[in-house]
Amino acid sequence: MAACFDVAVAGGGPAGAFAARELARAGIDVVLIDPATTRPRLEGLGERVAHILKQKGLEDALQAASAPMRRSVRWAGLNETANGERLVRRHDFDATLRQSALETGVTVRTTRLRRIEKADPETGVTLTLADGETITAKLMIDARGRQAPSTTRQKGPQTLAIAGRLSGPALPSGTRVEATPQGWVWSAAEPEFGPWLQICIDADDLSGAGQTALKERMRTFLAQPHFAGRFDACGFEGDLLARSAGLVLSAPELSLPVLPIGDAAVAIDPLSGHGLFWAISSALAAVPSVLTLLEGGDPVLAARFYRHRVVGTFWRQARIGRDFYRLETDLAVHPFWAARAAWPDNKPAHAVADDIRLERRVIVDGNRLRDREVLITPQDPEGVAFVCGLPVRDLLDLSRTGAKETAPAEALRWLESRGLPSGLPDQSLKTNQTHTRMRETA
Ligand SMILES: Cc1cc2nc3c(=O)[nH]c(=O)nc-3n(C[C@H](O)[C@H](O)[C@H](O)COP(=O)(O)OP(=O)(O)OC[C@H]3O[C@@H](n4cnc5c(N)ncnc54)[C@H](O)[C@@H]3O)c2cc1C
Repeated sequence: MAACFDVAVAGGGPAGAFAARELARAGIDVVLIDPATTRPRLEGLGERVAHILKQKGLEDALQAASAPMRRSVRWAGLNETANGERLVRRHDFDATLRQSALETGVTVRTTRLRRIEKADPETGVTLTLADGETITAKLMIDARGRQAPSTTRQKGPQTLAIAGRLSGPALPSGTRVEATPQGWVWSAAEPEFGPWLQICIDADDLSGAGQTALKERMRTFLAQPHFAGRFDACGFEGDLLARSAGLVLSAPELSLPVLPIGDAAVAIDPLSGHGLFWAISSALAAVPSVLTLLEGGDPVLAARFYRHRVVGTFWRQARIGRDFYRLETDLAVHPFWAARAAWPDNKPAHAVADDIRLERRVIVDGNRLRDREVLITPQDPEGVAFVCGLPVRDLLDLSRTGAKETAPAEALRWLESRGLPSGLPDQSLKTNQTHTRMRETA
């Protein structure tokens, strides 16, 4: 007899564990499936992630991270030190998040999802686990990271990260990012974990397989004249860890009843330091989608919301990464840098609006998805749905019809700051509604 749940979450990395916990907090019956095999490694955790964890009562997870450390950067002629990141011991961090999910009422299965036997938007999923158990659920969240299967893959130049625990002369405390002709290197020393060094090279730039090839590639990288012998006396403890690290759009469309989150939706280039933030913010964004769908809401809303976020994140991250690689003009002749500075195009990284218009968007309101008009302005290229708690369309209508005094003064000041003291002119509203329909069918 299969165990039945509202939601099955496959993968208990940061995205899956966080989503499972948030759904349980919202009263949903959740099972989290993860084999608990995170390999020991260090990553950087930014203050935005720390802030969300504190806000959600997950201070315990920060016990797996250091205090914020200084980061030295040697990139694009810069040689500077800035307030940096916390160093997080990922195996401890992930285990704490899963434990917290368990304590919040999530059922945890410490095994792998072997197969999705059945996936039907009406009736849900039937899953077979590696230990032979069968589970059914109305929805499945796919949080298997880069191991999630992907039908449509859009990706840029692919990067291979090779990392390990350093032995030999001590590294200075803090973290360090450095550009070199063959790629870039991140090194860090965390008091409990010890020194860690990670190189990022072109994925095709590895001949052979296994530990011997990885060690040889690491040796070649650290022998570059750039380092002037700095790593000559260093070795590595234990095996090196190789991971695919390029930006990948794995699942651009929502195919219900499965909702991909984190790396299973868009796998992020580590150069951005954005991966953990995306994992957790995409898990947070999945909650209103799940609640809306379980209450019988329109699946088209969930599909539009998902696509906007996931595809938008992929292209934004692609262009932010490109701009960062382009800064390294001295290294531009080397193949690693030339390929990354040229992809994906020359468009700006962030949305730009040169007009003012209303557009229909799916937004989160009261932890549910709603189709609402948002106002796009040059100051708000991503769109604004509410001003001081008032739907922006209602505010515009009030201002236009002369019933201004009923709107909060602060909301009116906001309209003035956008150059719209009397709302949008009739003509502009009509034109932009047409524009909206055209954009939606495009
Ligand atoms: C080399 C490298 C360095 C990085 N450095 C940073 C950094 O410094 N800062 C940062 O913010 N981000 C960094 N990232 C990105 C960050 O690691 C990821 O974005 C983040 O881990 C994504 O979280 P996730 O939960 O989506 O996936 P993962 O963390 O990959 O978790 C997936 C989980 O699914 C489980 N799983 C897999 N298959 C199955 C299955 N069949 N059944 C059940 N469970 C399964 C896995 O065991 C794992 O626990 C780095 C990435 C790489 C590759």
